[in-house]
Amino acid sequence: MKTTIDKLGCRFPIGPIGADGEVPELMTQSRTFSFCDWTTPLELKIGEIRENNKAISAAQHAQEVLSIVLASWAGQPTNASHRERTKLFLAVAAAADVLTAWLQLRRIVAGNFCTMNLVCPFCDNKFDYRVDLGSIEVETLSPPMDPHFVAPLDSEYMIAGKLRSELTFGEVTWQHHIDMVGMGFNIPRIELASIAAAVKGAGLTQKGFVEEPFSVSGVDLEVLPKPSRDGLLQYLKENRLGPDFGLDVRCPVSACRHRIETSIDSFFTNRISSPSERGKKYGRKSSISHMATKADSPGT
Ligand SMILES: [Zn+2]
Repeated sequence: MKTTIDKLGCRFPIGPIGADGEVPELMTQSRTFSFCDWTTPLELKIGEIRENNKAISAAQHAQEVLSIVLASWAGQPTNASHRERTKLFLAVAAAADVLTAWLQLRRIVAGNFCTMNLVCPFCDNKFDYRVDLGSIEVETLSPPMDPHFVAPLDSEYMIAGKLRSELTFGEVTWQHHIDMVGMGFNIPRIELASIAAAVKGAGLTQKGFVEEPFSVSGVDLEVLPKPSRDGLLQYLKENRLGPDFGLDVRCPVSACRHRIETSIDSFFTNRISSPSERGKKYGRKSSISHMATKADSPGT
């Protein structure tokens, strides 16, 4: 179901997924989070995170900050004295849920609007673009609350010990997101890892039941040729739940419209690589891999 960040508020687009692969539909309490009051001691504690670890990635930083500022997560109290436990909750949560919390925190702390400095890929005009963070679209899980979907492969491939013609995908956890961010800038490797992170098995699926559950690594998927890999990335993108970080931007000079893929990090730092800076290849790169590389921008 499509909604916006503003309408969603402090609710998860997905929510915790049970051991049976199912999201509890009726336990609404388990599909919310809340924040502590933003105080100076809290802010000082957050400042210490980078002070103590300058090399921390943006994704790990988000997890550290959230472990301090969250008051509850999925119906569990998560005050500052339970930081390690909270970090575990976040690691196994859907990345879409953690990104939503991070985005809501940004709105609370630094306001709903952010201005980005962009360059038009068509006329090279430099302009400021104001983003209303509340209007960002979010795809939420809707009944029958099954986060899985089956993607057909273009051919049969030997994956996880069997010839497969389809894969079942589910939600990527925040820990997977952190791992991908830490992979550096080898794009095919990040793409394979982002596909592998979402693989839950083959065949399906009724209310979270995957016919044949298994997990794979990026190495297991190296048998996939580039067109199949691109096809799967596109499929994942189309079926992905959570906030949509793609923005449709209009240049005030040429009136040309283009789409930029942002990340949660760009909203916090107001830094974004505009399409022309990326060799005008916008739109072709998967936003999953982009999110992984972009979120690791150094010096934030
Ligand atoms: Zn232009």
